[in-house]
Amino acid sequence: MRLILVGPPGAGKGTQAAELISRLQIQHLSTGDMLRAAVSQGTELGKQADGHMRSGGLVPDDLVIPIVIERIQQPDCQNGFILDGFPRTRPQAEALDTALQAAGVQLDAVLLIEVPDELIVERITGRRMDPVTKVIYHLKFNPPPAEVADRLEHRKDDTEQACRARLGKYHSETAPIIPFYESRGLLRRIDGVGTPQAITARAFEALGLT
Ligand code: ADP
Ligand code: ADP
Repeated sequence: MRLILVGPPGAGKGTQAAELISRLQIQHLSTGDMLRAAVSQGTELGKQADGHMRSGGLVPDDLVIPIVIERIQQPDCQNGFILDGFPRTRPQAEALDTALQAAGVQLDAVLLIEVPDELIVERITGRRMDPVTKVIYHLKFNPPPAEVADRLEHRKDDTEQACRARLGKYHSETAPIIPFYESRGLLRRIDGVGTPQAITARAFEALGLT
């Protein structure tokens, strides 16, 4: 299965991707994770991406598109993948389309997780990640167990200011890809408000996995 997850920052894309990959046994490709790895390794890509990410801007298309196109051609993606956080612009959606056509494969669905803007800042500023298990917690909505509390990471761009910038970019740059996929009959919309477990059930149903 080849899936795309779309939604504002904090919609629950990473949380739901973890459930979907465990059910579907496919690769989870998060451009945010790939870019953060490049930043922490100090690669050329990381150096160029860092400032854009810290301020809540988007990393330029000409940097992001090649890493994704190359990644989905790897053998471990032949059974399928979930793209989490890509495409985020219309040119990225078009580049992905061209690459998939050239490979002779098709997307199965684009899952849009809808969460109103007023809930986003609280979700983002309370987010914490366990660097060992990669589990995503929230201080209020999914509290971490005491034994992992000391090692949790708080992302540099999970501040209120950067979050508002990211939300602005979501509406101006990313939302325009929604009609692109809707017109192809690939879009599945789900309400992202509710417990994470309730959203997982909605996602499975929308994708015909029940
Ligand atoms: P995204 O990948 O879309 O940015 P995450 O999956 O990282 O979103 O979730 C953002 C934050 O919101 C995390 O702290 C996560 O624990 C929390 N979260 C995820 N799903 C829900 C939900 N349904 N209700 C409340 N909080 C949630
Ligand atoms: P979120 O959890 O808020 O959805 P991500 O982890 O997906 O955030 O992305 C973090 C940051 O990485 C983004 O704010 C952006 O700067 C950069 N980024 C990730 N994916 C892309 C992309 N497809 N195009 C451009 N920038 C990206």
